[in-house]
Amino acid sequence: MTKIPPADHSVSTAGDAGGVDGRLPTQGGDEADDRDHEVTYDVVTTPVLVIGAGAAGARVAIELAESGLEPLVVGKRDYGDAHTTWAAGGINAALGSLDPEDDWPIHAADTLNEGHHLNDPEAVELTAKHMPDRIRELDEWGMSFARTDDGKINQRYFGAQSYRRTCFVGDRTGEVMLETLIDRAQALEIPYRENVMITRLLSDGTRVDGAVGFDMETGDGLLFRTNHVVLAAGGFSAAYRRHSSRDDENNGDAQALALEAGARLLDTEFVQFHPTGMVGERYGDEWDGRLVTEAVRGEGGRLYNNDGERFMERYSPDQMELDARDVVARAIAQEVREGRGTDHGGVYLDISHRDPEYIRERLPTMVERFGDLGVDITEAPMEIGPTAHYTMGGVDIDFQTGETGVEGLYAVGEAVAGVHGANRLGGNSLAETVAIGKLVGEHVSEQVTADDRAPSIADGQRALAEREFAALADLAASDGDVTPETLLEDLGELLWNHAGILRDEAGLREGLDRLEDLRARTADLRVDGDRTSRSFEYAVDLSMSLIVAEVLLRTALERTESRGAHYRTDYPKTDPDWRQNLIVAADEGGLSLQRRGVAEPSEPVREALAEGYELDYHHLE
Ligand SMILES: Cc1cc2nc3c(=O)[nH]c(=O)nc-3n(C[C@H](O)[C@H](O)[C@H](O)COP(=O)(O)OP(=O)(O)OC[C@H]3O[C@@H](n4cnc5c(N)ncnc54)[C@H](O)[C@@H]3O)c2cc1C
Repeated sequence: MTKIPPADHSVSTAGDAGGVDGRLPTQGGDEADDRDHEVTYDVVTTPVLVIGAGAAGARVAIELAESGLEPLVVGKRDYGDAHTTWAAGGINAALGSLDPEDDWPIHAADTLNEGHHLNDPEAVELTAKHMPDRIRELDEWGMSFARTDDGKINQRYFGAQSYRRTCFVGDRTGEVMLETLIDRAQALEIPYRENVMITRLLSDGTRVDGAVGFDMETGDGLLFRTNHVVLAAGGFSAAYRRHSSRDDENNGDAQALALEAGARLLDTEFVQFHPTGMVGERYGDEWDGRLVTEAVRGEGGRLYNNDGERFMERYSPDQMELDARDVVARAIAQEVREGRGTDHGGVYLDISHRDPEYIRERLPTMVERFGDLGVDITEAPMEIGPTAHYTMGGVDIDFQTGETGVEGLYAVGEAVAGVHGANRLGGNSLAETVAIGKLVGEHVSEQVTADDRAPSIADGQRALAEREFAALADLAASDGDVTPETLLEDLGELLWNHAGILRDEAGLREGLDRLEDLRARTADLRVDGDRTSRSFEYAVDLSMSLIVAEVLLRTALERTESRGAHYRTDYPKTDPDWRQNLIVAADEGGLSLQRRGVAEPSEPVREALAEGYELDYHHLE
């Protein structure tokens, strides 16, 4: 395999009219085929296109650049502005700074236990094994980790971890981590194209030839010609009404794009509801679902119901507030359902028993945010409730390589499934982005040949691109009565009500019926503005979210058991026969679902599992 020198990203302009195709009913069908659009677009050539500039995309790009390639990174926002910046609490690595007994097999065992043994053991072990090196690397690159008095990288408790393993920068870990990665990427002069939204991968179902999108500032169409596409475009938790993500991120772009390109999705029924989201009725709609970092519980925060009871004593007397996220989220949902919630539909989270100075030092963002809302958390409790936070499901990949099964298409980060199984251990997502990101970057760099410098594009793929440009033009011209914002809100409500914390067959089936109704309403879509408008962006988001919503409802219906974050009130028990992953593919007949058995972990991890490590919660008392 020949490594190639850095390539120019040549830009030329092409044009031509094409037919119309697309995801939304407004764009497809015979009627749409009659329309005729003048389609102009720029062509950009690159050896590797990285879609997404969060931690995962940045880490892949760094590795590619360090092996002599010049990838092109695109993202929907400005450089350094990705969902990753919202990660607060920390990043896991078995460094043993405070607890020397900790080691990677114990980290892996905690991850498998939290994932209810549905995780891909290889993915888990690669992450746990590589993380100490990735943390040292970030440290060398200038990430300002909190330190112990003797200068070691400090580590804090996080839910369901046996030892203090979570490295942190106050409660701004993601922001500082992304700054560090972007500084490194800029030092390596990796080109980044801001405000680009990819709407389709060019694929014949077996290999990719590039991607299509548009410049969100000018509205111009963009055709990326490349033989290697790395999807690092995040998850889909923002499809829910109440979520901890930024509103305009995490709509399921990565999963929808991958599925359409011929890749498989995995474990999409597993959505993590974080127990501690801000309660909109108390703090205002703009704060609804926003995360109160897990670090509050890690630093000793206690949960109380409206009767002043520390209710976790009933649900989890040993681990209390630091039990797994799904357990704590269900406990809160139960308290509220049984009438012991606050008037605003939440419960109280209180850290005021700790020293105010300590709280200010460890939780500065929380102190500031609640302070702005008139609550001094060193003295008074916060009102919180569960919020959709993270999607364990995503693209099915090989974790040594990032390969998706579609030639030239790789995926990484929250876009993929495997490390977290049925429930994610806090602090493991940032870990996955860099641990697996480096491996994927290494592998992709070995795949790029001299020919990939000037990739050609098959005629069929160019025609597909032009149909997509025409479809986008058609979408922008939608002049019906219902806005994409309204439909996105209705979709969020639908998922919250029918595929939320507590699910059952009747509710899921009703959710699917309502989804059909909602899809039908897209025929009456109205986009207010051109292709640079927020309304148009939301229309594209909607098209992606509709796809993942269907996949999510279908897989949640299929899994007739409760496991981790997926709780079926009609099947409340975990069924050992269901220790299987659910794989989704799109074929001519629509979506197809298949089960796949889970592999067994390696000997050191089996030993750690047998040892039964567990956090002694009362360390914190
Ligand atoms: C409030 C909050 C707190 C969290 N705290 C922690 C924590 O303490 N520890 C932890 O481990 N994890 C935490 N997480 C999870 C963690 O932040 C994410 O899982 C992780 O940052 C995902 O990184 P990523 O690079 O895969 O994706 P993202 O950071 O989501 O980046 C996705 C990128 O893809 C781009 N993109 C998306 N769609 C398109 C498209 N169609 N075209 C072009 N570009 C596109 C976006 O613009 C962005 O650049 C937290 C999450 C939230 C919401």
